[in-house]
Amino acid sequence: MAYKMITPPENGEKITIVDGELKFPDNPIIPVIEGDGIGRDIMKAARRVLDASVEKSYGGKKKIVWFDVFAGESANDKYGEWLPQDTIDAIRDYIVAIKGPLTTPVGGGFRSLNVTLRQVLDLYACVRPVKFYKGTPSPVKRPEKMDIVIFRENTEDVYAGIEYRGTTAEADKVREFLVNEMGANIRENSGIGIKPISAFGSKRLVVKGIQYAIDRGRKSVTLVHKGNIMKYTEGAFRDWGYEVAKEKFGGVTITEDELWEKYDGKQPEGKIVVKDRIADSMFQQILTRTDEYEVVCTPNLNGDYISDAAAAQVGGLGMAAGANIGDYIALFEATHGTAPKYADKDVINPSSVILSGVMMLQYMGWEEAATMIENAIEKTIQNKTVTYDLERQMQGATKVGTSQYATHIIDNMK
Ligand code: NAP
Repeated sequence: MAYKMITPPENGEKITIVDGELKFPDNPIIPVIEGDGIGRDIMKAARRVLDASVEKSYGGKKKIVWFDVFAGESANDKYGEWLPQDTIDAIRDYIVAIKGPLTTPVGGGFRSLNVTLRQVLDLYACVRPVKFYKGTPSPVKRPEKMDIVIFRENTEDVYAGIEYRGTTAEADKVREFLVNEMGANIRENSGIGIKPISAFGSKRLVVKGIQYAIDRGRKSVTLVHKGNIMKYTEGAFRDWGYEVAKEKFGGVTITEDELWEKYDGKQPEGKIVVKDRIADSMFQQILTRTDEYEVVCTPNLNGDYISDAAAAQVGGLGMAAGANIGDYIALFEATHGTAPKYADKDVINPSSVILSGVMMLQYMGWEEAATMIENAIEKTIQNKTVTYDLERQMQGATKVGTSQYATHIIDNMK
């Protein structure tokens, strides 16, 4: 692939797809978008931590070869555009990439650069692991019970952007069709939004969630929906989820009903229980029965809410990792924004992007390096050497800057 303004490094290799399987070389080239605002500080810190863990885990046998690509303000400076084709092509070509937060340009026709990246690369699953690292300040009594991974559908639902402003000719036209042709009852001048949820979109998301549960030895997959009210969208998501679980993974999954009817509530070894919960009840469940949930699959809007609610139980967005994943391509990212007031001040918590890097290592099967970082972060927090956001919620903690915090993590690697 010829790029206009970037040159791939020569000392690394491409991740490839062979017979439908991802193949990871020992020196994969990984495109990295540093990001705007605090992106500059956190991505520098993250690269140091990731490099150190890979070096310490594999003694030089493996190495990430970083390939700087551009989006956001840095792209606008270099290319005069916010999301250059070079960047999209590089992520597509190299398959696994990581990014910092990006400013959403005002005007210019973008809903947001993140949304655009997800759409053009068809990254249909937003994956958010939410787990507790000992010592992290939390508003709940037993935060250690939280260890879930949320698979949020990324391309459909009310996020599809099909909306008509009330009192416009478009909204009137849609309303008239629904009232006159379909017998709906809608007040005049209403704004109207459309919520498309397809079998295709639902099933491929649930397949990803179940496959993840299989790969990582998780015991249950919960379909979270509001199907009691929205029967043909959210309810259909649930039905399609159960359907695909049976069609594709019938040998390894059982439903919650089967668990009780056939197995008297005792989960058989090697089987994953597929269950469903209504979204509002799920918000209670993650507080009251936290450890009964492991993998969650849910449509877009529910996923948006539940991801942040769950993250709040274990330390908030500064500690929350995320990725947007398609059939092969995976873009790992910080879940927070560019926090411009802290830009270049070397104060912000880099854990979110570092933990996204942990997800990236796991995606590549580099488990030793991933676990080494998780343990080192936990140790650093337990030692109470933390950035300002955690320090202000902890007693007797020492406040350190972004780069110092990264150094502590590296020093705590064993
Ligand atoms: P934000 O950048 O996430 O920052 C809001 C507040 O959250 C910060 O002031 C800070 O709170 C806290 N925070 C965020 N990241 C943190 C970290 N790593 N460590 C500790 N605290 C952290 O949200 P915003 O101010 O609404 O958005 C700013 C820009 O970011 C906008 O242009 C927005 O479009 C963009 N954005 C990008 C992404 C993305 O690229 N994925 C996501 C969201 C927003 P305190 O001041 O209380 O410490």
